[in-house]
Amino acid sequence: MTYLCKDCSYRGTRGGRAGHQCPACGSLNIGRHLPHTVDRQTPGPGRLVLLVVLWGCLFGLIGWKLSH
Ligand SMILES: [Zn+2]
Repeated sequence: MTYLCKDCSYRGTRGGRAGHQCPACGSLNIGRHLPHTVDRQTPGPGRLVLLVVLWGCLFGLIGWKLSH
């Protein structure tokens, strides 16, 4: 759960006064949204690199097994 202030564009995981007030400027015009809905649209490149490394290890192992 992250908080987004519409007045000062504060973004954080903590909201003042039980999430009804912006801790930065004190505005009540603060919105709440779930962070995973934003993260799902942009998959990081780290997962792809890990997949490539794993496949490289697998093919390297197969090549080593065939040559020995
Ligand atoms: Zn604010």
